[in-house]
Amino acid sequence: MTPLRLLPFALLALMPFGTMLSAQAPIHTVKTRQPLVALTFDDGPHANNTPRLIELFAREKIQVTFFEIGKHVARHPELVRALAEAGHEIGNHSKTHPRLGDMTLEEVRAELIETQAAIREATGHEPKIFRAPFLNHGPQVWTVLGELGLPSIGTRLSTNDWATDVTVEQIVERSSRAEAGDIILLHTWQNKTVEALPEIIRNLRAKGLRFVTVSELLESAKNGGD
Ligand SMILES: [Zn+2]
Repeated sequence: MTPLRLLPFALLALMPFGTMLSAQAPIHTVKTRQPLVALTFDDGPHANNTPRLIELFAREKIQVTFFEIGKHVARHPELVRALAEAGHEIGNHSKTHPRLGDMTLEEVRAELIETQAAIREATGHEPKIFRAPFLNHGPQVWTVLGELGLPSIGTRLSTNDWATDVTVEQIVERSSRAEAGDIILLHTWQNKTVEALPEIIRNLRAKGLRFVTVSELLESAKNGGD
């Protein structure tokens, strides 16, 4: 795990997608020759679903990534600690889930730094990755991400699992389109997503894909994708 902790902005800039970073764009997918995908879950921790997900992933023996909201972390630090202890990666998803692009530089800085601190308090480690609420960025967001050395993680696949009229079948079908290098965006609070997961995992395994955390996926690209 040590090399992952040393994965700052400077190293990321050497990666094949370095040009995307210098253009200040989120990372939506990673170039890798390994059959790896990253399942990611936003907006937790969630009192009911976080424990369900911990159980499910323990049964499936896979590690995933959770982009957690700072104020939820403060309410349920024990759930975030349990996620980290189970080997899952914790990312920063802001403190209050605002549209950061509409905020001042100081407000954005507080949103991100206070969430880094809340997660460090809960787990002993600061996140190495960030996802913007609503995938909404602005120049001030990129400035703060640069200061903190955090890459912004997007997604190539819109599962739309947040939509009220989405069905379990649609979440399964859209998530199962993932290819090697993809980052799949899902939500912790969506019960239909929890229901859809066993079939998503089966389908992606049937395509020969393996599940890793976002930092492991980034690391596989840094190693030339071999
Ligand atoms: Zn969110």
